[in-house]
Amino acid sequence: MKKIILAAAVISVFLWGAQASAREITVLLKQGVSQGTIGGSGVVLTDAGGMYTKPFNGTFKISYANGAMKAGKVTYKLPVTMKSSSGVVVDGVKYKGSLVIERNSNKLNIVNKVDIEEYLKGVLKSEMHPTWPKEALKAQAVLARTYTLASKKHGGYDICNTTHCQVYGGVADESSNIVQAVNETKGQILTYGGAPAQIFFFSDSGGMTTGSETVWGSAIPYLTPKADPVSNDSPNKTWQTTLTMAQIGQKLNAAGTGVGTLKSLRPHKRDKSGRIEQIELKGSAGTKIISGNKFRTAVGATVVKSTLFEFNRRSGYSVKSSPASKPAVNLVQIPKQNASSAQAAQIAGMPECDADKLYWMAQNGVFTMRELLAMIGDDSKYPQYVAEGLARMAKMKNPPVKAEKPKPAQPAPSQAAAEVSASPLSMEGTSSGTVVMYGRGYGHGVGFPQWTAKALAEAGWDYRRMLEYYFQGTKLETR
Ligand SMILES: [Zn+2]
Repeated sequence: MKKIILAAAVISVFLWGAQASAREITVLLKQGVSQGTIGGSGVVLTDAGGMYTKPFNGTFKISYANGAMKAGKVTYKLPVTMKSSSGVVVDGVKYKGSLVIERNSNKLNIVNKVDIEEYLKGVLKSEMHPTWPKEALKAQAVLARTYTLASKKHGGYDICNTTHCQVYGGVADESSNIVQAVNETKGQILTYGGAPAQIFFFSDSGGMTTGSETVWGSAIPYLTPKADPVSNDSPNKTWQTTLTMAQIGQKLNAAGTGVGTLKSLRPHKRDKSGRIEQIELKGSAGTKIISGNKFRTAVGATVVKSTLFEFNRRSGYSVKSSPASKPAVNLVQIPKQNASSAQAAQIAGMPECDADKLYWMAQNGVFTMRELLAMIGDDSKYPQYVAEGLARMAKMKNPPVKAEKPKPAQPAPSQAAAEVSASPLSMEGTSSGTVVMYGRGYGHGVGFPQWTAKALAEAGWDYRRMLEYYFQGTKLETR
């Protein structure tokens, strides 16, 4: 696979100079299925034994049988490829590129091999409304492309088609705006330290984004709090949720973070953006302080839309920028991979606390950033996750090793420019039977706020300016 990409890159550089090269990726469409329906028009099947069909039209059922793939009375030796110049259909969904059907123990994996640019045209609709301004869609295209290239494999494949990695709806999700946004940003990604950056986006910031450390306890240099330069017309700019103390208590208990019968809730610590970083729970079984994100996830991320909320009141909220004498973040060099590292060195080089270990593992490709996001807040399971990470590292060909003496890098001048903070929100708690939460924004709050991107595009910002603002310190490069 690598060789093919390399060869393609060499040829395209030779033919078109600096123009971006075509890059084929593998997308896991169906994992471990015993059957499926595939087809298309003018499709040709080739099996591992060299048997191939004449081009034919239509869809047909395939199933796993005794180490092979069966279609009707014909048995095909795995892996099987299916090609067509007009795309392929899997369980009623049409995709560009070709299919590979592989064995997954006693089942099948159905995989789409597709050029990354064609793939992205089937991705964007799940992430941003296709009628939104083109500059916002272009920014989203760069982010989706960056995420795809930063993704550290799903099994042996580049990425899967679910929320686990990136939702991919295929040809039906393409539209002219989306196609233009992908074409006009062809090959462009955000990089940091020469590698694809770890990117995040979410719906609505409520006025200010937050740093990565609020969500997972460690700072990523280019994911720092940013005040929105314009206001937006998001439906969740402000929100209000009413629940009973008992309902919240049940949710917390179900998530394994309860305090018996819940009696009161109180913000314990807010971050620079005003988000609840820690919240205090008091109940019949004692007092606990948990992260705001854990609280949100436990109660329901669609109910508690963000951690930027207050109890019983809605205070004024404004964001201030002031010149800072020192950078707002400590820049840490990402450790380089070292092929000769031993397991002992990896463990010795890792941070001590479990949360930092998980973050470090994600930074080094042991977990995807989305896996990390899913793990965050689940403190009780951290030891289990760390064990899973160590097991994965033991299987890696080039396991990561932490640099012995990480040198703090010098911040770029723009990174030290401004310290941003929001006006303080109420620290008032509640012990009432009915809990009213007054909040702002929707989502985890780290990275790129999509509703603000829409407003910025309408205010005349182009996608480069938006990305530079929200991912300060990264570079927009063509790969
Ligand atoms: Zn995945």
